[in-house]
Amino acid sequence: MYGVVSSTDSICMAGITLTRISSVPENSLELTKEERRNILQEFHEQPIGWHSGINRTFERIKLHTFWPGMKQEIEDYIKSCDVCQKNKITQRKTKLTLKITNTPEVVSQNCTMDIVGPLTKNFEGNIYLLTFQGRIV
Ligand SMILES: [Zn+2]
Repeated sequence: MYGVVSSTDSICMAGITLTRISSVPENSLELTKEERRNILQEFHEQPIGWHSGINRTFERIKLHTFWPGMKQEIEDYIKSCDVCQKNKITQRKTKLTLKITNTPEVVSQNCTMDIVGPLTKNFEGNIYLLTFQGRIV
């Protein structure tokens, strides 16, 4: 099912019309587990969400509805999303110490070579890429 944003401050998702709210009402919509899951799916996986992260998904859904434990449910849902797990970008920063190297005195004095792969097979059937770098004088 695909959610359609109307011209008003309401959005129709999973057969439920959600109205934009400016603050969390005391009596939040009582959504069933299936309805909440459909909303998470709509906001996270459909073009309006496109696998955005926990905070962005939370902020978007919060504009329309809220339920107790919503952020944790969003987090659990996203952590179990296959697409996100396969395309996860690590936030861990790697710090390598800089090293002073000797400047080559002649061409090809200092070269590096590496083999990258296996990659997706190209039209010739190759799956490895050979790289060769020569430091310029
Ligand atoms: Zn995802």
